[in-house]
Amino acid sequence: MSITSKLVTSSWVGGKCADQPASSRYNVYDPRTGRAVVDVSAAAPAQVSCALDAAQRSGLEWSQESPRRRAEILRNCFEFMLRDLDTISGIIELENGKSPVDARNEVSYAAEFFRWYSEEAVRIVGDAGLAPGGDKTILTRREPVGIAYLITPWNFPAAMATRKIAPALAAGCTVLLKPASQTPLTALYLAALLTDAGVPPGVINVLPTQDAAGLTDAVLEDARVRKLSFTGSTGVGSHLQRKCADRIVNASMELGGNAPFVVLEGADLDVALDAALTAKMRNGGQSCIAANRFYVHSSLVRSFTEQLTGLMSGAAAREFRGPLISEDARDGLGALVDIAAESGATIHCGGRAEPGAGWYYEPTVIGGVSAANPVLSEELFGPVAPIVEFESVDDMITQANATDYGLAAYVCDRDLSSALSVANRLEAGMVGINRGHISDPAAPFGGVKSSGLDREGARDGIRAFLETKYIAVNL
Ligand code: NAP
Repeated sequence: MSITSKLVTSSWVGGKCADQPASSRYNVYDPRTGRAVVDVSAAAPAQVSCALDAAQRSGLEWSQESPRRRAEILRNCFEFMLRDLDTISGIIELENGKSPVDARNEVSYAAEFFRWYSEEAVRIVGDAGLAPGGDKTILTRREPVGIAYLITPWNFPAAMATRKIAPALAAGCTVLLKPASQTPLTALYLAALLTDAGVPPGVINVLPTQDAAGLTDAVLEDARVRKLSFTGSTGVGSHLQRKCADRIVNASMELGGNAPFVVLEGADLDVALDAALTAKMRNGGQSCIAANRFYVHSSLVRSFTEQLTGLMSGAAAREFRGPLISEDARDGLGALVDIAAESGATIHCGGRAEPGAGWYYEPTVIGGVSAANPVLSEELFGPVAPIVEFESVDDMITQANATDYGLAAYVCDRDLSSALSVANRLEAGMVGINRGHISDPAAPFGGVKSSGLDREGARDGIRAFLETKYIAVNL
């Protein structure tokens, strides 16, 4: 059976495809060809309240379901995702364009959130203790925050959704998910799969739209919605944070990044190159934790640049080869590379859009970049690696921290204490040492500064969907 015959192409509400008429239909494009592959019905405004009705109807029962039962259902979701790995990765390739290797890795990673939170669902604990004055017992309980509104980006259509859905469901919340307009198909397929896996109707609802702002206004104005969990750009996150202030909606933010990748004097070059290629090229460079700027010690910069150029223009980078998400994204990246070249930087490889169909950009290495160049300050979101040479570690750290972002950073050195010392001084929520792949469902993912609030994954991820209730008890 072809992938397109398995697609779900309209809103998922109350455990089934919405039977209400959509407001309109819109095309989803395959970035590998630039062609429309299917059209999806955009949620009509009336569907917001229908979806929230469904979430509310199922909410009480789901929140009172035993943790063990919730855990078993989440475990089923994990198994079902692995069962359908080929189909889900095929859908991701179709609407996002990422390479088959990246798509399959994403599905495994996305599924793991269900396994991890099935294990956490039974470990939601409160506390009890005698007050210091001895007059009462302080009892604390953790309760689900309520209906959660989840907004996800296009770059990991499965993992960004499951990283929110799994902890929300484990906590006892019901959810309404708005996927990115460019990649709604994975989320819609997942909603149907999770329903098959035993998630009760109404616990998960998915509304695709091309009117993100209008739909979000309608959701956030509804008093039943108590939580927003957003992943996307810092600009939109900041706007939504203000919106949440109106009704004091609890908001978690996973936002943009500008990760520095630091190669210290004592680095093992092979290890650093391997980590650099992964940190730069995973998902074709379209990752919030992608290495965005390379700071390389002067003693290694020549060989690092030569060898990274070899890797980026050879077979190693092809494993990650995928198009940019849109023509605009590809052209925006090209413009940044052109500015760098015009200001005197050296293009060691790539530096142009790939000819032919699809929105591809050649893997590019740029040397001799000056500190003020926009290619260092903008989030590149593509296969472009600007390299900056440094002598002094202090100066390099000042430059690496000279950004509003603070999501991820990478440090390479054989000497662990010097790598740790630099990692401690970098303003980032996550640091990889001698490795370019840091994501793990069991690790807290998130940023400092303008890169976000709260953490996803790990124990922390479930706390974002829980409130603490304190009960004063006379025993
Ligand atoms: P984006 O433009 O901020 O969009 C993200 C989501 O927000 C999409 O679903 C989008 O819908 C929606 N949206 C846009 N404007 C909105 C509005 N006014 N009100 C409500 N929702 C709105 O970001 P993107 O370009 O899709 O994704 C790339 C960004 O996400 C990068 O900055 C990247 O670093 C960041 N990101 C961060 C993490 C993390 O964990 N920290 C992970 C992945 C990506 P439409 O699709 O309809 O526009």
